[in-house]
Amino acid sequence: MLSKYCYIDEAFSFSLEKTITKLTILIPGGGCEYWKKTGGCSMCGFNNEVKKYNRGHKLPSLIYWVLFLLAIKKYSRIDKVSIYNGGSFINNREIPKNFRSNVYNYLSKEYNGIELLIESRCEYINDDFIKEIKKYQKKIKFTVAIGLESQDDYIRNKIIKKGLDKRVFEKKVNLLAKNNVKTYVYVLLKPPGISEKEAYNETIETIKYLINLNINEIELSCTFVQEGTFLADLYYNKEYKPPSLWTIYKILRKAKEKGWQLNLGKFTDTPPPISIPSSCPKCRLKLIKIFNVYRKKNILNKIDRCECIK
Ligand code: SF4
Ligand SMILES: [Zn+2]
Repeated sequence: MLSKYCYIDEAFSFSLEKTITKLTILIPGGGCEYWKKTGGCSMCGFNNEVKKYNRGHKLPSLIYWVLFLLAIKKYSRIDKVSIYNGGSFINNREIPKNFRSNVYNYLSKEYNGIELLIESRCEYINDDFIKEIKKYQKKIKFTVAIGLESQDDYIRNKIIKKGLDKRVFEKKVNLLAKNNVKTYVYVLLKPPGISEKEAYNETIETIKYLINLNINEIELSCTFVQEGTFLADLYYNKEYKPPSLWTIYKILRKAKEKGWQLNLGKFTDTPPPISIPSSCPKCRLKLIKIFNVYRKKNILNKIDRCECIK
């Protein structure tokens, strides 16, 4: 039961230049406010999952606190903890403020120097948040993960329906940098409506844009299909297929050549996807193995071309 909402894995940290032990905790927050107001981003299935546990309502602080303690006390040595709530951790309407202070207090006392990663939409990143974390920054390295997904305004706001102005994104990134908070930005590979080649080109453009902004860490987030989403409708109508594993490999190769510090997101989440990035049976497992090594050690092993490459 516990393993369902928290787990440990090893991942390469570009900032520490080594493999670290990472604890991931998934908690059912009140549900993404943006999703409730607008129907959310076209690929996002988190809210359907969160609703199973709390019918879309924020739970009492004590419940989140117990979930957090049960998870963190299970493991003794961790370098980083990522808390995901299927929305914005720093929005009071999704996560109680006193739960957040309890987490900061606990981590600063028990895990001096730990990195804490939380996710947020840009609208909640403001001076209040900076004030909230200020006194803990000596003991906790805060990282805020933001989904930009694409530098292209049409793809980001019309196709993905992200509702995010690039100027706002840049302003918030500056606010975080000025206050020594790290940024971790998601780039979505292959949103619907574009070809595999266009998806590759757009991803490269987005990574270049983020490198120029001095973003601390970038994650290649490879689209998978979750039930109950707009993307799932397209998938069932045979109008959408997740990216090829070879496109992912090509992007990682390019990142290596250019010296970009690019994290590779997992191909699964909660709820479990109904379709994930793939290739032919001859090369699929070899590529998956290469990606697992890359995630853990930042080593990209070579592989012979396969006849399935278009
Ligand atoms: S991707 Fe993030 S912002 Fe978009 S609907 Fe899902 S939780 Fe909300
Ligand atoms: Zn193949």
